[in-house]
Amino acid sequence: MALEPLLSDANDQDDHDPRPAASARGSAPEGTPQFLLEQAYALILTAFGQMGYDIHDDNFRDTGPRAAQGLLEMVFPVSTINVGVDELVGKSFSARYDEMVISKANVCFGLCPHHLLPVIYRISIAYLPSKKVLGISKLSRLAKLLSRRPVLQEELTQDLAEVLHTRLQSRGSAAYVEALHLCMAARGSESHEARVVTSAVRGIFREQPATREEFLKLVTTAQTPLL
Ligand SMILES: [Zn+2]
Repeated sequence: MALEPLLSDANDQDDHDPRPAASARGSAPEGTPQFLLEQAYALILTAFGQMGYDIHDDNFRDTGPRAAQGLLEMVFPVSTINVGVDELVGKSFSARYDEMVISKANVCFGLCPHHLLPVIYRISIAYLPSKKVLGISKLSRLAKLLSRRPVLQEELTQDLAEVLHTRLQSRGSAAYVEALHLCMAARGSESHEARVVTSAVRGIFREQPATREEFLKLVTTAQTPLL
């Protein structure tokens, strides 16, 4: 007996069948995030069909699994983020340097929790070491890791400062985040030029205005436009 092909041709599908093409359903194990997202994208495609688009067009053939995979690249599981932060913070090493360390203008990507639309961040973070410093690339990794969540920019900013102060046991930390929210730029108020700016400070950065000002001056001068 011939085996049924795993993925049938989308064009073979009955036009009146409201379900997405078989090839758009993918083969992820049931109940996994990939599986659930494929189902969600299949429904989105069905809605596009109701809007008059030909969702059996070749271009949509693997859109469900592909879009699900794409979203999973933008939103990491909480466990992945927690383990990643633990690993990054655990890789500090002792140093005599006790001045400000800044990682400036890290471009990162995330998703806003209100519209699930992409946000492009430019993140600058700093800390004042207390005998322990992080490898410089770890600061960039931390910014990228904490961005890949459906999280408010305000909370992301505070989380960055919190990790660099509490987890790293530094004398102080600061985060300065500029962002382009596609939910504001491509829809809604269509504010293409607006950038949302947030900052958070901990420890000495909070207690000493001069330290905070030095940080803000260093991270805001000579910036190229964020898009
Ligand atoms: Zn939004």
